[in-house]
Amino acid sequence: MFAAPAAEGQRPQYRIDATYVPQKDEVKAHMELILPAQGTRAQTEAFFHLYPNVFRDWKYGREAKPQKPGYIDISNVRVDGKPVKEKISGIIMRIPLPTPLTKGKSARIEMDFLLNLPRGGTRLNTFKQTAFLAQWYPMLSVRDQDGWHTEPYTTVGDPFYTQMSDFEVTFRLPQGYQVISTGNNADGRVRSPITVKQERVRDFAAVLTKDYRVTRGKMGNIQVNLWYLKGMENVVKPLHEAAVSGMKFYGERFGPYPYDEVDIVLGETGFGIAGMEYPGLVTSIPTVPAESGQVPAVNVVVHELAHQWWYGVVGNNQVKEPWLDEGLTTFSEFLYMQKKMKEDERGLLKKAAKRTDEIHRVVGVTSVERLYDYPDAVYGMMVYIRPAAMMFQLMDEIGEKKVMDILHTYYERYRFKVATTRDFIRVANEVAGKDLTPFFDEWLYFKHK
Ligand SMILES: [Zn+2]
Repeated sequence: MFAAPAAEGQRPQYRIDATYVPQKDEVKAHMELILPAQGTRAQTEAFFHLYPNVFRDWKYGREAKPQKPGYIDISNVRVDGKPVKEKISGIIMRIPLPTPLTKGKSARIEMDFLLNLPRGGTRLNTFKQTAFLAQWYPMLSVRDQDGWHTEPYTTVGDPFYTQMSDFEVTFRLPQGYQVISTGNNADGRVRSPITVKQERVRDFAAVLTKDYRVTRGKMGNIQVNLWYLKGMENVVKPLHEAAVSGMKFYGERFGPYPYDEVDIVLGETGFGIAGMEYPGLVTSIPTVPAESGQVPAVNVVVHELAHQWWYGVVGNNQVKEPWLDEGLTTFSEFLYMQKKMKEDERGLLKKAAKRTDEIHRVVGVTSVERLYDYPDAVYGMMVYIRPAAMMFQLMDEIGEKKVMDILHTYYERYRFKVATTRDFIRVANEVAGKDLTPFFDEWLYFKHK
């Protein structure tokens, strides 16, 4: 169990004022963070992740190396108005708090940052007249009962762990640029400056663009926007329909989506990234290969949308237990594809169960490991596919309705919180009315009877 990082009403509050200069691939910004005390012990420091700095001096695989490096520089750090000296080591920044922060109090941390966007970066990227701003500002690291989470970057999975926060972001843009973001922009007016707010989200992503066009629609009260580039016209209708129907499908089964809008942005966002989830915004490639040739990427779109439930609303430590959001999301995706697209992958999942048994024997990893412990080649099978197969097997054993009840209860109980594998198993046992621990032990931890 994790101690709640901050009680309701005491979320960190970010205020960012950002000016985009496309000619220089730069975003110049001022950031203010109201930081409520976290935990019960007095707090004398705060840590931030500076993810753009992984693109400064790329240490990972050559295939994902950006064509042009990027970075984030920090200056003028102040705490409650007093200048302090930050310490940066790689992607981690430590800021000292001159007055120890005690329970119920908060500190105001301010800084300027200069973001230089990489070209061909993974997630954080710029091309033509579009900038993808992902993990683009100094992101407060999580402090919980295990202490500060200052985990390093990796190219395997999504190495990000952040907490529910409130955002108010002002963008100053050259003429003709618009903002697609975690916040709402339902009126669709193109203007600058534009201020976008969103409360209770783990992250704030934005796409600044002069090139994207949009198709808008509604699922109940939720605005569902599909953004695409010239040349993608033939997938707009099927993918927008899939997005609307996917939001409905998941909302009915797992519980209501708590925000007013979701944006789906089509296009490549870096090597090896078919799609990516952010609160209120997902990216997806437009098409995927099939036997009949390239087809609209319905599976990718509904996968990323399912993450709004698993990771977006119900959080988990994606570094420590990546299966918890990826496994449930892959299951959600396969369930949608089976029910709505008549694509039954049960045969593939049965094979995957056998294959992962072999992987476990040879490589030694289970489905519940940290990102760093997986070789790239087995990550998808262990973290996405096997847990999805497990959920289908569970449907066979206790029935589809019970499994939906488990997911619904889990969603309701851990909405806006952080859940763990143990929490998930506890809910499953409770809702099923029997001890499923041996079932999960076998599927997740390979403990065979
Ligand atoms: Zn995923």
